[in-house]
Amino acid sequence: MKPVFRESCEKNLSETIGHWKHLHMHPEMATKEETTSRYISEALGRMGVPHSVGVGGYGVVGLIEGGSPGPVIALRADMDALGIEEKTGLPFRSVNEGVMHACGHDAHCAILLGAARILYDMRQGIKGSIKLVFQPAEEYSPIGGAPKMIEDGVLENPTVDAMLGLHVWPILETGTIGVQPGPVSAASDRLRITVKGKSGHASMPHTGVDAILAASATVVALQQIVARNVNPRDTAVITLGTVKGGTNYNIIAEEVFLDGTVRTFDDRVTSMMPTAIKRVADNTCKAYAAEAVVDYRPGYPTTLNDPRVVSVAQKAAVELLGAKGLLTGLPVPAGGEDFAFFSRRVPSAFAWIGCRPKGVSEADFPALHNGRFVPDEAAIPIGVEYTVLAALGLLDELGGK
Ligand SMILES: [Zn+2]
Ligand SMILES: [Zn+2]
Repeated sequence: MKPVFRESCEKNLSETIGHWKHLHMHPEMATKEETTSRYISEALGRMGVPHSVGVGGYGVVGLIEGGSPGPVIALRADMDALGIEEKTGLPFRSVNEGVMHACGHDAHCAILLGAARILYDMRQGIKGSIKLVFQPAEEYSPIGGAPKMIEDGVLENPTVDAMLGLHVWPILETGTIGVQPGPVSAASDRLRITVKGKSGHASMPHTGVDAILAASATVVALQQIVARNVNPRDTAVITLGTVKGGTNYNIIAEEVFLDGTVRTFDDRVTSMMPTAIKRVADNTCKAYAAEAVVDYRPGYPTTLNDPRVVSVAQKAAVELLGAKGLLTGLPVPAGGEDFAFFSRRVPSAFAWIGCRPKGVSEADFPALHNGRFVPDEAAIPIGVEYTVLAALGLLDELGGK
């Protein structure tokens, strides 16, 4: 059946690239994807794909029902852009000042629209159903857009058995796909600590409780959690990005606010962090007669790739790009990804689609969230074909074929 997809992909390529360029030109920030949502809805409407809008905000959900019953899978693309000034100089650069598709979510939507057309056209031969999940607010950390879609029932009616997601990945060369089991994105939590002391005259420290001294000791002590409480085979990052406190040079500070982020890659480490941080902050501050008020907010968990779904995704990558095109055992990035929430509900595979043009070195190619980032256009048809192959492979696998 492969040549059929190829032909179909090539035929629809200019339409898919057109979607990408249109979306790139009209980026919208997380939770504000109104015109993006309308554009996607209209594109699905022209194809004839039944769909719902307004799912978890500006989410759009299409449903392709196959000719015969079978498992249900979902394919997800995120829709939102970032508050970054575009510096690509592209003819189709952003017309919305200060907003840019710098994370490639425009490419993800175009890829899913391209795959939707092919899968919809061949639906008679498909056993099972395919949900197309266009998700808003991926960049809306620590809340994200996926939980709202889940709340709105995106994984029900019909119940989704497995899910696929992808991200264009500038570290990897075009013509390669990275997909591997286990965690593939970091858990990203928010940490705020208020250190409370007692103000006094700078010349009479014995009459006050110095919140700055207690906070300084706390900042240092927190790093010992990574050094002494985390298994050396695991990793974690505790970063306090801001320290704010004190009112004047000659007054002992009454309050200090610490604000930071915690990144972890393994559920055991993720779950021990709030308790360990509270213990260290409380007791360190106590040693200085101060008080710590810890506000720990869990954000995106790690995206967890299921081995069975991954093996189907890997087969699709090899079929498309050959054995050399599949990359595994790649280092897990410290960034968060809210596909994580889906991956915790249904067995999933999240793949990295190489989008660095051949011959361009990693050092010379802009990273995600950079004002000069543009994925290689050649990565888009690869994304489409991979999505189609992996979706059909997954339906076969789950259908017991
Ligand atoms: Zn991003
Ligand atoms: Zn992204």
